Amino acid sequence: MKVSAPSPDTRYFEVQDLVQSQGLHTICEEARCPNIAECWGRGTATFQILGDVCTRACRYCFVKSGRPSEPPDELEPSRLAHAAREMGLEHVVVTSVDRDDLPDRGAAHYAATIRALKEELPNASVEVLTPDFLGIEEEALATVLGEQPDVFNHNIETVRRLHRRMRGAKVEYERALWLLERAKQLATYDVLTKSGIIVGLGETNDEVLETMQDLRAHDVDVVTIGQYLQPSPKHAPIDRWVHPDEFRMFREQGEEMGFGSVFSGPLVRSSYRADEQKHAARAVAY
Ligand code: SF4
Repeated sequence: MKVSAPSPDTRYFEVQDLVQSQGLHTICEEARCPNIAECWGRGTATFQILGDVCTRACRYCFVKSGRPSEPPDELEPSRLAHAAREMGLEHVVVTSVDRDDLPDRGAAHYAATIRALKEELPNASVEVLTPDFLGIEEEALATVLGEQPDVFNHNIETVRRLHRRMRGAKVEYERALWLLERAKQLATYDVLTKSGIIVGLGETNDEVLETMQDLRAHDVDVVTIGQYLQPSPKHAPIDRWVHPDEFRMFREQGEEMGFGSVFSGPLVRSSYRADEQKHAARAVAY
């Protein structure tokens, strides 16, 4: 796998300046995403709200884990919307750390962020990649979907058998599926739902296909599948390198299953070329 380095001939440093000057976090940096030169170079980024400390500790994730000391930053939504407007984004992707310490798990902050984006960029679409809102799922979904994000994304991350081992006892495979289906049911508008699978954590191809089928059975429109890269020696080891032919097979099988869009490849991440994923899914829907 080859990735490009940041280049002054692209928009990379413009995006970096904006992110830094507005005091924002991005999952691109926090998760050490290998696509950062490409995505920032094309003037896109995925914003990470609610701080940079996550209350979970998934074994594959580089985001800092611990107990956050700060409440949500009330001015973050407007700074984020300002940065998105300066970047000229037509599709804005927002994710967050898990905030199990907050009574609403951060749902109101998501809602405020979507509102700010819709005010500042009325023609842009908004995608949210949310945590599972443990224990208050229904209320949190209603709060977030009340602001009508165009895409509701929640990553299932791995197959049923590895779920607890990789994500901890709090996280349930079935709950992720339920959350995605419930989002579709609760939305009073035509929302796209989306989920992502990481491969190379110890799963088999049949288990990946089974997870894709589970997502389709819960009415998910878009799926992304990408290779796991171990972010540090403390994280789960890489179990296998999935061959490009296998990624192609996942895409072909996913299309047959009826997904509107399947992005499958070694460097695919949940938010990789999210604008194109959305367009592809919409093109199939209409
Ligand atoms: S794939 Fe997503 S997380 Fe990675 S650099 Fe691109 S926008 Fe950021």
